[in-house]
Order: sequence, then C-alpha cells, then structure tokens
Amino acid sequence: MYDPNNIFAKIIRKEIPSKIVYEDDKVLFINDINPQAKIHILCIPKTKAVDFCDFISKSSQETVCNFYSKINKIIKNHELEKTGFRLVANSGKDANQEVPHFHIHILGGETLNRID
Ligand code: AMP
Repeated sequence: MYDPNNIFAKIIRKEIPSKIVYEDDKVLFINDINPQAKIHILCIPKTKAVDFCDFISKSSQETVCNFYSKINKIIKNHELEKTGFRLVANSGKDANQEVPHFHIHILGGETLNRID
C-alpha cells in the first residue's frame, strides 16, 4: 500500500526541500542527503509506486522506458559512461529499503567497493 506521506512524495510535492539534479512532469532526480559516493543521485519517478515490482506493474511501457532513458541521460551528462557507475534499486524488507517510494540510486564518480 502506497503511503502518500513518505519523504519522497513530500519532496515531489515540494513540501520538503531537495537538491534537484533534473526534473520534469514524470521524474525527479535529486542528490542523496547522505551520499555513499562522490556522485549519488536518486532517480525518483513521480508514479505512486512503493517498489520496483509495484512500479513495473502500475506503469505503461512508455513510462518505464522514459524513466530509464532519463537515467541514461543523467549518466551521460555526468560523464559516468566512461568511468563506470552502479545502479541500485533497494526493494522491500530484505533489501532494507528505507523510503517506500520506488527509486534508483546512481552511484559513481570514484571507485566503488565490490559487492560480492
Ligand atoms: P533506500 O534504502 O533505497 O530506500 O534509500 C533511501 C535513500 O534516500 C537513502 O540513501 C537516504 O540517504 C536518502 N534520503 C532520505 N531522505 C532524504 C532526503 N530528504 N533528501 C535526499 N535523500 C534522502
């Protein structure tokens, strides 16, 4: 069940400030408040979806494609294509998802620790 008062919903509604990297009517990309790498961007679709599976089941192919295309643009704008990066989508309890509004983390700008 989607909670309309989760922190990203409030950020989308501009009830809470954030450092915006990119925004349009469908997506909001912001800097993470507690960065885990030199570049740590949160890619938040404006769809009211709790997690990855909820986003995919609620969204049209066009919406999903648009979201990933925008992520690709931001990766290229930050020149991460050349040096590398990591995309992370924590979903649910076992992944310790903290904010119950689907989002993808872009991490890069330095060598990241391996996840084995
Ligand atoms: P997750 O565990 O994937 O749900 O990660 C949630 C992320 O949101 C964490 O990396 C937090 O540092 C980040 N976060 C929480 N509150 C804010 C906020 N107000 N502005 C920006 N990032 C936030």
